[in-house]
This record gives sequence, structure tokens and C-alpha cells, in this order.
Amino acid sequence: MRLRYLFVDMNSYFASAEQHYRPELRGKPVAVVPMIVDSTCCLAASYEAKYCGIKTGTSVAEARQRCPGITFIVADHVRYIKLHHQIVEAVESCLPITAILSIDEMVCRLWQQDQEEDQATALAAQIKQAIRTQVGESLRCSVGIGPNRMLAKLASDLQKPDGLTVIHPADLPDRLYSLELRDFPGIGRNMERRFHSAGITRVEQLCDLTVADMSRVWGSTVIGTAWYRLLRGDDVLPPPTHTRSLGHSQVLPPESRTEEGARAILMRLLHKAAGRLRQTGYWTRCVEVAVSYYGSEHWRASATIPLCQDTLGLLQTTADLWAMRPLGRPLKVSVTFSKLVSRENAAPSLLLEDRERLDLSQAMDHANMRFGIYSVYFGAMHGEQTGNRTRIAFHSVPDLSLIDP
Ligand SMILES: [Mg+2]
Repeated sequence: MRLRYLFVDMNSYFASAEQHYRPELRGKPVAVVPMIVDSTCCLAASYEAKYCGIKTGTSVAEARQRCPGITFIVADHVRYIKLHHQIVEAVESCLPITAILSIDEMVCRLWQQDQEEDQATALAAQIKQAIRTQVGESLRCSVGIGPNRMLAKLASDLQKPDGLTVIHPADLPDRLYSLELRDFPGIGRNMERRFHSAGITRVEQLCDLTVADMSRVWGSTVIGTAWYRLLRGDDVLPPPTHTRSLGHSQVLPPESRTEEGARAILMRLLHKAAGRLRQTGYWTRCVEVAVSYYGSEHWRASATIPLCQDTLGLLQTTADLWAMRPLGRPLKVSVTFSKLVSRENAAPSLLLEDRERLDLSQAMDHANMRFGIYSVYFGAMHGEQTGNRTRIAFHSVPDLSLIDP
């Protein structure tokens, strides 16, 4: 069995990008934040900051305490996207990219003649060198090489920063035993809980599962079979992750704890969630709206709808549900899409009106990718402070051609 994939994962990408643009910050602890207030959390930390125990999610207050000399920088996604293009170009000067998985992750399928270890690792070294010389010295990456995409990605996680790790087909499955279940892409908190309730807590047990057992835990033969094969190094596409719902919630800022304020924020959350739904290739069948009130009262209502992915359709359902809420002083709102259906399984509506709505939503996504997430939105959200645009980090870069052509 051969090494078919090479995975590139940029290290501490946002923080390294800042160090790239501002040489005076190189070698220093840096944290990228959505805004500079103590109550917010770090989006990314440079390696110098990581050595002080700061990571994604560490609060600004704690980061300041752990590392008094740290520099906080407000995220500038447009810059990160520009740099991303340069990185893509540098990688492609060595090897064509098969898929860009997020702003700082990409995977390449190796040519037949490069599938032996010596050739594959030489290519990895070339890629690192190309990024250093064509983009910048402060940008480092961890490269993982493996027989399939999932194992190449896992390999890239094993050594940071500036790693180069090969997972050999011959070392499977033992090579994986030192990992945690959560290290596997696709096993999140919920899935881990399901494995635990099936008595599987170690990767060794995961690797011992039969196809039937694996399928039972995943609740799907397609996913179970794919996992069984992936763990053995077969070149199957990573199965769809077990996304069952997608949504956003927000505790209302004091000035928005009114009927209008809460509604506007709910619509903003909807806009963001609908964009994510399209970006991740899912359709929803169910919309749920929930409101928490002062005095710890909760209310929730849901509606089952025909498969939907467009903002306008989802906006309508959300507004209908919102109209059913009891009156009171709202404290927190959320909108959740559940009963998700993936792109492969969705048979979207062929009605012209529905298609037009979807086209409109997609055009909106493109404009928002280009100019910032709240550049284009529907009238229902108008009047609400859209706040700090940089609160939303990019999880992927869906259409590169639209950014800085
Ligand atoms: Mg990374």
C-alpha cells in the first residue's frame, strides 16, 4: 500500500500571518482576538504565546495574566485570505492541490511516482521551502503524509510546529493507538459520547471494531464502512461528518434586551447559520427558535419544512416561529437547524421560485465573502448593529475566485 496523500496544515495561522505582516512581532507572544476587551477569547495564538499556555479559546484576561508581554491584535480576515492565496500558489508550485479544506489546510494527492516515502518527504520539504521563500519566513506548516486523506491529516497533527510526519500503511493500526478518539477528524464531542456509551474509550478499541459494530455506533452503514476502511489505510473519501444540527445562539447585549433588539439579533444569527448551512453543503428540514427570558424561563418552538437551504425561506419560518413566542424580557436567543440532509442525499426543490431564492442566497454568500459577513443581508436584520465583523472567523474558503481576483 502506498502513501497517496500529503496534507499541509499551517501552524498558528492567524498569529503567524500577523507576524508576517509585522516583523517586529516575530519571535514574540501574539494573540489574535475578535476585539480587545477582557471578556473575549483568543482566536489564535503564536507559538511563543502557546508556550505560556495560551491557546484558541483562552480569555483575553487570562492571556494577559499568563503572559504580561503579549500583544493582542484584532483579526483581519481580508489579510489572512490574501495570504492564503499566496500560500496556495507556493504549494502549487510544487504539487497540485486536490482540495482546500479551510483557510489554513489543504490536501494534495501524490502522483504515482511520488508515493514512496523518500519522494513524498522530499516533496514535503520542497513545499515548506516554497512557503518560506515565496510567502514568508514566519509562515510554518506541518505536513502529514499517509495512505488516505484522513490519515494524512492525522499525521499533520502529530508534530507541531514545522512538522513532517508519515503514517505508514504497514504501521497500521498500532501507529494510531497513542491518539485520543477526539483527535480523529469527524469525532466531535457528541460522537465521542456515543463511542463512550458503546464502551469504546481508546483508539485501540476503535480499530478493533467490526464493520457492523462501527456502523451501529455511527448509526449509518455508509459511514461505519468508510471508517472501517479508512482506519486500515484504504483510499476512500472521508465520510460526511455526523452533523445533525447546526445553529447559533447569543446572549443579548444589555441594549438589545427588547423585542426589536432580540428579533434583530435572532435574524442575524439566522443569516450566519444559513450561510454555514450552504457552505457545509447541508439542507435542513427543521427550524427551531428558542428564547430565554429573565427569570430563567425558556421557550422553544420548531417547524418542519420542505428541504431548505436559502436564507429567505429560513427567514420566513424563523419569523413565523418568533411570532408565537410569549411576551417577556428576552435574555438569549437561538436558532437551530436540525434533520440535516447532506448534498449527496438532498433532492432540492425544482420549483423556479425556490431555485431563484437559492441563487440569491448564494450571490449573497459571495458578496459577504468578498466584503465581510454582514455586507449583504435581508431587510429583517436592518437596524441592528451588525457589530464587529471580525467576530466570525472563516472556517473555510468556499470560493477563492471571488476574493482579490
Ligand atoms: Mg492550522
